[in-house]
Amino acid sequence: MGFNNAPGLGAPSRPAAANGGFDVLVVGAGFAGSVLAERLASQLNLRVLICDKRPHIGGNAHDRYDDAGLLIHPYGPHIFHTNSADVFDYLSQFTEWRPYQHRVLASVDGQLLPMPINLDTVNRLYGMNLTALEMEGFLASQAEQIEQVKTSEDMVVSKVGRDLFNKFFRNYTRKQWGLEPAELDASVTARVPTRCNRDDRYFTDTFQAMPRHGYTRMFERMLAHPNIKVMLNTDYREIEHLVPWRHMVYTGPVDAYFNYRHGRLPYRSLRFEHVTLPQEQYQAVGTVNYPNDYAYTRITEFKHLTGQAHAQTSLVYEFPCDEGDPYYPVPRPQNAEIYRLYQADTEQMPNVSFVGRLATYKYYNMDQVVAQALATFKKLKAGLGAAQALHTPGLHDAATAAVTPLSEAPANGAALLPARTRRDGPAANPALNGAATPQ
Ligand SMILES: Cc1cc2nc3c(=O)[nH]c(=O)nc-3n(C[C@H](O)[C@H](O)[C@H](O)COP(=O)(O)OP(=O)(O)OC[C@H]3O[C@@H](n4cnc5c(N)ncnc54)[C@H](O)[C@@H]3O)c2cc1C
Repeated sequence: MGFNNAPGLGAPSRPAAANGGFDVLVVGAGFAGSVLAERLASQLNLRVLICDKRPHIGGNAHDRYDDAGLLIHPYGPHIFHTNSADVFDYLSQFTEWRPYQHRVLASVDGQLLPMPINLDTVNRLYGMNLTALEMEGFLASQAEQIEQVKTSEDMVVSKVGRDLFNKFFRNYTRKQWGLEPAELDASVTARVPTRCNRDDRYFTDTFQAMPRHGYTRMFERMLAHPNIKVMLNTDYREIEHLVPWRHMVYTGPVDAYFNYRHGRLPYRSLRFEHVTLPQEQYQAVGTVNYPNDYAYTRITEFKHLTGQAHAQTSLVYEFPCDEGDPYYPVPRPQNAEIYRLYQADTEQMPNVSFVGRLATYKYYNMDQVVAQALATFKKLKAGLGAAQALHTPGLHDAATAAVTPLSEAPANGAALLPARTRRDGPAANPALNGAATPQ
């Protein structure tokens, strides 16, 4: 990450304008950007501008009410789950929760069967009556011996055998990724465990809950700090040279940041088809997977997730595709190789922090992105050096302790130094020489 060897926020990367400058420009108002904006503003009193090219906050986790008044997730179903008490406690400052445990059924051979594969899945699929212990033996008898588990296919076949692989995973993976399971990293299906008991929850994390009033409301509360300005419908490239800032938090695609100089990192996209039906309920659980039929992979009914009472119901169908918004980094060795080139470039950018799913080209869940952003904050905080001193009580009087806007600062950003250093002028601190940090 760029901040590791960074001089910290004390070094101006841009000439600070007389008016309206910011300490940090955050690109992207999803989890990564919003968590960092909130921490930098509330804990370090920094002035933050957060921009997003979309017309809303929340990134892919954004939710909104549709025309029928049902709360939906325009970018596909987002179910919150984590084992991290730190992440859960952090987000709990901005939302109440509604306990929710997600359940998924897969439509296979004319039946709707629990997913991940459990004791009931196997018994109902094969018309058997195995006990938990017997199921272990059954799976062992089906599993193929594979010396070195490298691909997604190896992973599943070595755990549950070829028949279950063909019925539940093969075609779903083909649809989802547009690739054969043998062409994908083992990590893709390592995420889907099998169980020898009857536990039919999709996730087993300690904390499983949905923001009671939705994700967007939670993001609104995170960004409601007076030090944070939000600019929507704005690609950062439109403003990066117009608005003064000293450090950037970048959460967009890493290859786009570097103008694709090492080639494009492949992403899988999705087309969402949203439907509202004049009935209270459509399906028994939140999500039904269709591994073998139709062009879509799954149907999600939002009312299960949100708990909303309504006479109608809204669903989303997901159609995987290559073109469109970048959603899923494609986990293949050759792509990891390209990413490594970009990662090396990010390390040459001490005044830019690359955070989040797109900027680090990793399939992260929401909680992992929050954890990554909180860890980034800790490192940035440690690197603050002189800038932090500005906000130390005693160096300022009470009236200015809250925020010192750059509009009150000399044009070179020296306002970020403690008052007594500022009197000495920027030359007293070589890190504040405007030319010191290249872009
Ligand atoms: C279909 C789907 C379902 C998912 N379901 C779950 C789930 O159930 N549970 C879970 O934990 N996780 C889920 N995830 C993962 C979750 O969406 C991510 O972990 C999380 O949203 C990542 O947050 P982020 O801030 O890194 O990225 P994003 O949410 O993608 O935010 C990045 C933001 O940057 C903006 N941006 C990009 N480029 C620019 C630019 N040039 N200028 C300005 N703004 C820019 C984008 O518009 C975007 O809003 C799912 C993901 C998908 C695609």
